[in-house]
Amino acid sequence: MSYSVDEFRCSVCGAPIDVSPYSVVVVCGYCGWSSSVESAGLKPLVVPPEDRGFLRAWLEKIVRSKAGKIATVRDVRFLMVPVWVVYVNASTRYNGYRTETRSRRVGTGKYARIQTYDVYVPVKGVIDEKLAIAVYGRRFESTFGIGTVKSSVLDRVRSAVELEPSLTKGWDVLGSEFSQEEVLEAAKTRVADEHRRRLESMTTKLYDCYTTADVAGARLILYPVLEARYESGGKSYRMIIDGVKGSTRVLKAELPITTSARIIRGLAAAAVVFAAALLASLLQPLIGTEIPEELQLAMTVAPPAIAGFAGFLGSMMATAVQRISKTVEEIDIRVLG
Ligand SMILES: [Zn+2]
Repeated sequence: MSYSVDEFRCSVCGAPIDVSPYSVVVVCGYCGWSSSVESAGLKPLVVPPEDRGFLRAWLEKIVRSKAGKIATVRDVRFLMVPVWVVYVNASTRYNGYRTETRSRRVGTGKYARIQTYDVYVPVKGVIDEKLAIAVYGRRFESTFGIGTVKSSVLDRVRSAVELEPSLTKGWDVLGSEFSQEEVLEAAKTRVADEHRRRLESMTTKLYDCYTTADVAGARLILYPVLEARYESGGKSYRMIIDGVKGSTRVLKAELPITTSARIIRGLAAAAVVFAAALLASLLQPLIGTEIPEELQLAMTVAPPAIAGFAGFLGSMMATAVQRISKTVEEIDIRVLG
């Protein structure tokens, strides 16, 4: 279900406004007026965008360089996407243990041997941290590469400024479909999950893990991106480009695998098979010597296993039609101190 854009216009300047049935924060991209169902005082910030003409030309150039001269840009949207940044002071009290394997020498003379045994080390304490969490403000639509956008927002939140008509002119400003209250709850849950994940990786058994999280602040950031679709060889690919002033870059892209790339991958797989065969011939003379039995077994089994795996990988890569390229890690949480 969707409303016609014409039905919703800015009450100040009359410009059309993006409104979905779930919108709780709407923003006018022309005059900067914004409205929230819960607090009239909510002021979104915007990270200043690059010139649209420049971005459009850059997009054409990058698509041709990455996907070949025959690639054609089909759809381009200049979007200001809503990403909330929530600052949380979190405290997690935990209690558990980890096991450590130690070894000791027992017996004497020719009966001496190494014995291993487990020790239980208590792991207990409190994590006190200030964190920033990025929460995407849209409920149902999935935007390609949004994970890379979230980490970019966390990187650039300091350069966000107050919304001003000249900054959003010509961009489609998307409102938030989550209320501030919902976003704060989501951020607190995210922090608790993050602490639990970290503690579980440090412990064998975690008995208690209790997080209290206080919100220290939250901002709705409008972040400029180019969402593009292009065609190459009869197939369609997606790309998302950072639209921030002075930092034009591909955030994430689906790229066709060109014939030359396929050949290079095939050769790489063949090289690994060759290396495995070489390794086998080097190890062969050692079998039957002083080397322990387990190691001999590993030496016999490893080369064919490596070769088999390389062949499998090679055939997979040779038949894949696209690959994903990312310039930014997908991170939605950052420890500030
Ligand atoms: Zn307006």
